[in-house]
Amino acid sequence: MGTTDRDDRHDHSDDHPHDRADHHSDDHADDSPATPGGPSTPPGPPASGAPASDPPAPGGTPPAPPGGSLGGGPGVRHTAALALAHALSAAERGLAVIPLSATKLPAIRSPHHDEADHPHQPPCHGECGRPGHGVYDATSDPVRIRELFAAAPHATGYGIACGLPPHHLIGIDLDTKSGTDAPAALRELALRHLFTIPETVVVVTPSGGRHIWLAGPPDTVVPNSAGRLAPGIDIRGAGGYLVGPGSRTTHGTYSTVPGTAHLPPAPCPPALLRLLTPPPRTARHAAPAAGPQQGQGLVQFVLAAHEGQRNTRLFWAACRAYENGIGPDLAPQLTAAAVRVGLTEREARSTIASAARLTGHA
Ligand SMILES: [Zn+2]
Repeated sequence: MGTTDRDDRHDHSDDHPHDRADHHSDDHADDSPATPGGPSTPPGPPASGAPASDPPAPGGTPPAPPGGSLGGGPGVRHTAALALAHALSAAERGLAVIPLSATKLPAIRSPHHDEADHPHQPPCHGECGRPGHGVYDATSDPVRIRELFAAAPHATGYGIACGLPPHHLIGIDLDTKSGTDAPAALRELALRHLFTIPETVVVVTPSGGRHIWLAGPPDTVVPNSAGRLAPGIDIRGAGGYLVGPGSRTTHGTYSTVPGTAHLPPAPCPPALLRLLTPPPRTARHAAPAAGPQQGQGLVQFVLAAHEGQRNTRLFWAACRAYENGIGPDLAPQLTAAAVRVGLTEREARSTIASAARLTGHA
């Protein structure tokens, strides 16, 4: 969407009283005694009409997490502004981000939350054009990031989408809970499979766990997994996200291990990559072909792509089409959709071809 609302431009102008009217009324209406009605008065929409923001939930804002500076009041906006600043800084490094709440979940409520379930309909991954689709909202475009955070005034952190270009980030999540020694398990895997973890970004979680950031090759999809490699080791891959450093949660703050923050994500060692990728999928032609509805959902998914996510969306849509046995049928429509959102036909064909290869259909 081409519009940028004025709110976004005023994040750092809190010292100008006239700008306050442009902000969402996070600070309670104590400066406007003329407004009758008190707490039952719903906060008005922002004057500039930010198209991206959902109206607040009928019950008010989500409950503030207990304790600490994450509580309500002006601190909320400060925390959100800090989260936005960290997210923008991650985006400058080419990482695609989404706002997260203090519970580490996507902070923007789904625009479909009160729609009746239609089990026959494919789930919306952003085809509707509104924010609130979790990791599918992820972007590295600063304007879009500001729009997302404007729609998430209670964000306390941000998630970094894995698997996306240019880094094709893979997160090795070493847990410290539940009595497992994940770092030791990783060392053992490294010895057995003859790889070393290169020097790279490492993020410390509030519970003392570690997220090791690695870069994947562009033509490999690393799936998410929990405990598959070894107990206590989770993998964040395509469709997953990592809580970004600087994020605050109910359990504490995520931070980088000193000396690693400036590093680019190091390439994943090939021997480790082999452990992370499943064997080539055997064609599942026995599965019934997906209906035309699903195919159209995938086409819409591509049509709704913003600049910066077009190729990734096309790739995901094509992978799903091939997995569901409708790849060859849908490829022309996917190509046309990609061209409509600005990819060249050659780019589109090449992306669809790699989706076909990766899913074992070429
Ligand atoms: Zn939607």
